[in-house]
Amino acid sequence: MAYQQSSGGFRPRTNGDSRPGGSRFGGSRSGGSSRGRSSGGSRGPVKKYINPSKFINHATPKAEEIAYVPTHNFTDFAFGSKLQHNIDKKGYESPSSIQDQAISHILEGKDVIGIANTGTGKTAAFLLPIIEHQTGVSLRPSVLIIAPTRELAQQIDEEFRAFAQGLDLYSALVVGGMPAERQIRDLKRRPHFIIGTPGRLKDLMNRRHINLENINTLVLDEADRMLDMGFLPDIRAIVTETPRERQTLLFSATITPEITAIINNFSKNPVTVSVRTSETNEHIEQDVIEARDKTHKVELLTEMLQDRTLYDKVLVFGETKFGVQRLSDHLDNSGISSIAIHGNKNQSQRARALKQFKDGRVRVMVATDVAARGLDIPNVSHVINFDTPQTYDDYIHRIGRTGRGGASGHAHTFIDSRR
Ligand code: AMP
Repeated sequence: MAYQQSSGGFRPRTNGDSRPGGSRFGGSRSGGSSRGRSSGGSRGPVKKYINPSKFINHATPKAEEIAYVPTHNFTDFAFGSKLQHNIDKKGYESPSSIQDQAISHILEGKDVIGIANTGTGKTAAFLLPIIEHQTGVSLRPSVLIIAPTRELAQQIDEEFRAFAQGLDLYSALVVGGMPAERQIRDLKRRPHFIIGTPGRLKDLMNRRHINLENINTLVLDEADRMLDMGFLPDIRAIVTETPRERQTLLFSATITPEITAIINNFSKNPVTVSVRTSETNEHIEQDVIEARDKTHKVELLTEMLQDRTLYDKVLVFGETKFGVQRLSDHLDNSGISSIAIHGNKNQSQRARALKQFKDGRVRVMVATDVAARGLDIPNVSHVINFDTPQTYDDYIHRIGRTGRGGASGHAHTFIDSRR
């Protein structure tokens, strides 16, 4: 065996630079330095060097975590009885931190900036008060929700449908990668909510299938990701078509100068609600694994994943669409049930892959960053960075897929042993 397994994972590289367990996310973020890039996926700029010590963190034991004590119950909010019923039915017992802090402001009609990443419950934080507001609204479409990826938009739409049951509120999902005909048909029915990704929204807007003159609420979800992916011009073009008199809600995991500019541009006297992002990462056990070269990485990974009990539900990140597919095929051929998710797959293939992984029919999903962005997959036991991420922010987003909802999670990052 080339790697050494200890009780908690793999033996970290401890050279002079390394500070095992010393990296805490709050203080070591790379800030705005990565924000200039405009392309998604593998076309990004030269990869930034990230000190391997940042990939090491000894998890905070559960017992030491201070549970968030909400100041509200869901019943404290002025939600109608059907909406309260749907919240119960979804199994939400008490508000998460972002919900607890944002819902009242949104119900009051204020613009809100939510600094929160995926996994904090931000979707319900904006959906619930908006649903409450829209009940009975006749000028439609009245709500526009823009998200960076198809999968995220789809998840928002699914959550919307669950919360809006029996309320006579409807949505159209407007995303790329699937035929536009059905979306156009849905739009013709004048839904209350349009939930979509910037490219397809702008396309259908230009083709006059979307009329935004009655929009009273605009949500920009994962705004930092949307800027990273180069969507700013599309977003500007879309938002310009909405009335100035509207409520604007913007969610972002990070606040950079570019995000501040958007906030100043699009919102009026917003209230800022912040959920500490490190909360979701400190309990993730993070370690590095040294490998000589790609072949060695594949060998090590294959060997690790043979342990079905330990590596129960694993998300592996690779850099390129081609590499991700090849790695997934290799694992599959080695008897490790695996599926790939990347931009060369169409929407229904991606949705099917995601479902197979979510349902536990395949144990390993190999993904590119763009394909995996914003995905809500319960119970991921391990995130493995087969290729190191482009930036430290990407790293944070990747490992945020494990250790959800207070479960313990593990992240392993392959690094070059020859460095
Ligand atoms: P999000 O950050 O919106 O992607 O939500 C992450 C996950 O937490 C989703 O599976 C939600 O359904 C779930 N969730 C959100 N709010 C609550 C809550 N108050 N109670 C229990 N689960 C929740």
